[in-house]
Amino acid sequence: TQSLTFMGERTIWYRPTSLKELLDLKHTYPEAKLVIGNTEVGVEIKLKNMHYKTMIAPSHIPELNKISKESDGITFGASVTLSMIEETLQDSINKNQDCQTRMYRAVVEMLRWFAGHQIRNVAAVSGNIMTASPISDLNPLFLAAGVTLTVASKDGETRQIVMDEKFFLGYRKTAVKPEEVLISVKLPFTQQNEYFCGYKQANRREDDIAIVNSGIQVLFEPDSNTIKGMRLAFGGMAPTTVMATTAMKKCVGRKWEDDLVADMAEWLASDLPLPPGSPGGMTEYRRTLCISFFYKFYLTVLMQLK
Ligand code: FAD
Repeated sequence: TQSLTFMGERTIWYRPTSLKELLDLKHTYPEAKLVIGNTEVGVEIKLKNMHYKTMIAPSHIPELNKISKESDGITFGASVTLSMIEETLQDSINKNQDCQTRMYRAVVEMLRWFAGHQIRNVAAVSGNIMTASPISDLNPLFLAAGVTLTVASKDGETRQIVMDEKFFLGYRKTAVKPEEVLISVKLPFTQQNEYFCGYKQANRREDDIAIVNSGIQVLFEPDSNTIKGMRLAFGGMAPTTVMATTAMKKCVGRKWEDDLVADMAEWLASDLPLPPGSPGGMTEYRRTLCISFFYKFYLTVLMQLK
């Protein structure tokens, strides 16, 4: 395939076909908007009056469309669509041990409630991560799993970023620099003593944006119900997807027993304050949802531990 350039009166649109060409363009025009499915950018232009002078479509870059199956997980190129991710993860769920694919099952389940087929067929994983919406449905799962991103800049220089509480810097702002391009996202396998779930509460079950959503992961000490580490990420509770860092620290060493629930409720309330009058309203309900999600997770894991 050939590289393309379209020049309009207000916008230049590039469709490069090699990674080098893409990185050179992003270096020359750091403010250029990358566009894949156009399901975020299109809304910004049409409904939010945004204008982008330079647009780059990285739909034809081989590295960004690659899916690599590795011994400890699957790496998806940044331009891979959500439908393709769903299909690949479902295949992995069918072929691997149950305990390895607990996070994949949470992603597949979340994608079921994510937009409709038309959107999922064109929207890319990079578009969801990079938009950094506070109610993204995938970002809470990715933070809870600590997925690894590979980004690249001019001359093919790459660096890896683990998605954790430092990844979202502010409203729609991430740790990826303007001159960098997201190349791939690695979704790791879960381990035998690791459990993972995702939750989304919306007004309508299908094709609706979340009021609050969450990804929760727990890792136990071998052959025990003692917490080695837990990661809790929430959307809809702040201007970015956030992690409940106090709860994450304080729960270490605790047993998966009923008295944990009351303490977690207290820690989550202090991690996710949401004062009355916060944008989005329903503050008390949203705070309660966070605690309810954890309680649901607690019961689900308890049943699996028995
Ligand atoms: P685009 O609009 O093409 O791009 C989005 C952003 O990502 C741009 O800023 C772009 O520059 C950046 N970007 C893309 N690729 C790269 C890269 N490789 N490197 C650096 N930056 C990059 N979201 C949800 O979370 N849950 C939902 O249920 C949901 N429902 C929706 C329903 C509708 C009707 C619509 C229109 C949108 C919905 N969305 C939802 C939002 C949207 O579909 C997703 O965020 C989607 O993943 C965006 O992907 P895209 O490829 O269309 O992004």
